[in-house]
Amino acid sequence: MTETKITIIGGGLAGCEAAWQIAKRDCPVILYDMKPLKFSPVHSSEMLAELVCSNSFRSDNPDSAVGLLKEEMRLLDSLIMQAAHATSVPAGKALAVDRHSFASFITEKINSHPLITVIREEITRLPDDADTDHLTILATGPLTSSPLASSLQEFTGQNLSFYDAIAPIVEADSLNRDIIYQASRYDDGPGDYLNCPMNRDEYDNFIQALATAEKVPLKEFEKKKYFEGCLPIEVMQERGDNTLRFGPMKPVGLPDPRTGHDPYAVVQLRMENREGSHYNMVGFQTKLTYGEQKRVFRMIPGMEQAQFARLGSIHRNTFVCGPEVLQPTLQCKKNKNLLLAGQLTGVEGYVESTAMGLLAGINAARLNKNEQPVVPPPETAFGALIIHLTETLIKRFQPSNINFGLFPPIGRKMPKRERGPFRSQKALAAINDWFKKESLL
Ligand SMILES: Cc1cc2nc3c(=O)[nH]c(=O)nc-3n(C[C@H](O)[C@H](O)[C@H](O)COP(=O)(O)OP(=O)(O)OC[C@H]3O[C@@H](n4cnc5c(N)ncnc54)[C@H](O)[C@@H]3O)c2cc1C
Repeated sequence: MTETKITIIGGGLAGCEAAWQIAKRDCPVILYDMKPLKFSPVHSSEMLAELVCSNSFRSDNPDSAVGLLKEEMRLLDSLIMQAAHATSVPAGKALAVDRHSFASFITEKINSHPLITVIREEITRLPDDADTDHLTILATGPLTSSPLASSLQEFTGQNLSFYDAIAPIVEADSLNRDIIYQASRYDDGPGDYLNCPMNRDEYDNFIQALATAEKVPLKEFEKKKYFEGCLPIEVMQERGDNTLRFGPMKPVGLPDPRTGHDPYAVVQLRMENREGSHYNMVGFQTKLTYGEQKRVFRMIPGMEQAQFARLGSIHRNTFVCGPEVLQPTLQCKKNKNLLLAGQLTGVEGYVESTAMGLLAGINAARLNKNEQPVVPPPETAFGALIIHLTETLIKRFQPSNINFGLFPPIGRKMPKRERGPFRSQKALAAINDWFKKESLL
């Protein structure tokens, strides 16, 4: 076997995807993860690729930006996409997984690959191998352990973070199915979601309780640094009493079979595991204290007796200022032998973090073979993320989910409904040309 010259730190979504892509290209790789010797505040399983909050990879429609990114990843034989399909649970138009089977599928593939060596150990410092031919991918995620986060801070001269919250999980047999009904939005079929309907009085009382409930206090300097795409419900409520009705509690397209009408507001529950024994409260990330979560969420019709398998919480989320630190190949400007991957780069979300692991893996393998690292074309979802990470004005840089706003302009007028399919077709054509040009497959 050739000498192992690639190390990955972090066996989450990005680290596992990177390892898979490297091994696929016949290069040996060592993957470090600190679990189970040490756990971040949100990780609790010994397995690799643990999903820390929702079990959803969001829309699977290739005409949406996140659906397109998944499609591009499938074309590149993404391990995480393989696992998501093998372990999916019904979730309407979204791709959601049984989190236990998902992590177990990936752990088994990584552990059994002859070119991947997994070492369970916490790494406390960034390597100083700028002058050697050893490559490192840092993929320790938003909850990178403190000593390593300090080392990264020393290396980048930055201390960037925001706050991300987790939604509760509820036990299915504690739900009142006489009130809660099954339906997917605008779908005629039986539907994959459970819906807790609220009338106007119930909604107003719920909003009032949310407004006055006790929250976990943040320090003064930590306030208001939330990720806009994943706001805690009580922060949404502070923006207006109807904000939740236009957000996670939107009732449209979900008629209650008992009345035939859409309710005033709805709380949706998505299946967490294949047995259907647990449900995730969709979009209900929160920083209410544990006691208050139980009290306020049991006001939701049908959840009066709810038992919670996990309660919501909020966590600091570390990232780097991509435009200052990264090249479009995900190599660091200050040390070309160090690549960043996953959420640390300044993307947000499971799919985006995995995509940045996939690209870092391809480039580490290419560098290892003395080939030029690659940069995805700008019309693709991969390319749009890289442009966000490397070309945004430094002072305006904030982590982002994939969205069509990051893509180059279409350049002509087009009805809104045609823009998604147009961008998607263009991106998939560009990515296929890119694969051929760079011999990527
Ligand atoms: C609280 C919270 C909730 C989130 N909820 C969602 C959500 O619902 N949906 C969504 O799409 N995204 C969510 N995210 C965002 C993000 O997409 C996930 O955190 C995602 O798992 C990031 O993938 P990653 O591979 O970069 O990091 P991770 O999946 O976190 O993997 C990092 C790995 O590195 C290991 N590690 C850390 N430090 C060290 C060290 N020093 N040495 C060795 N190993 C180390 C960890 O044990 C872990 O296994 C959430 C993030 C947070 C913090």
